[in-house]
Amino acid sequence: MSIFSSIIAREIPADIVFESERIIAFRDIAPRAPLHLLVVPKTEAYANVVELAAGDPALLAEMVAVGRELAAEHADGDFRLIFNTGANAGQSVFHVHAHVLAGGLSEGSLGQE
Ligand code: 5GP
Repeated sequence: MSIFSSIIAREIPADIVFESERIIAFRDIAPRAPLHLLVVPKTEAYANVVELAAGDPALLAEMVAVGRELAAEHADGDFRLIFNTGANAGQSVFHVHAHVLAGGLSEGSLGQE
């Protein structure tokens, strides 16, 4: 079971800001921006965004829509959506998730804050 599945099952605590039938979102434990949320599908069938895009593109679209809604609710609506894909790109949890970063981002940066 992934660490995110443990959060979904309420086995470990998290600051959950959104939940629907197929998606959960909570604050990253080590925030890199004033707003740093993780948007996570409840299924752990997909290790990364490439697998998710191939296997369930509608769920990926749902994640993007949730990210947009949360950036509007918790910041000014503008946001950076990051999918680290592979260990060499910084992925440490192999249960697909989107980082939503917003609020006071440095201009022009492509990396996490
Ligand atoms: P990745 O490095 O795989 O792209 O992102 C994993 C993210 O999960 C990291 O930003 C890390 O801080 C976050 N994270 C890891 N464990 C936990 C946890 O137990 N709770 C929360 N809220 N975030 C976590």
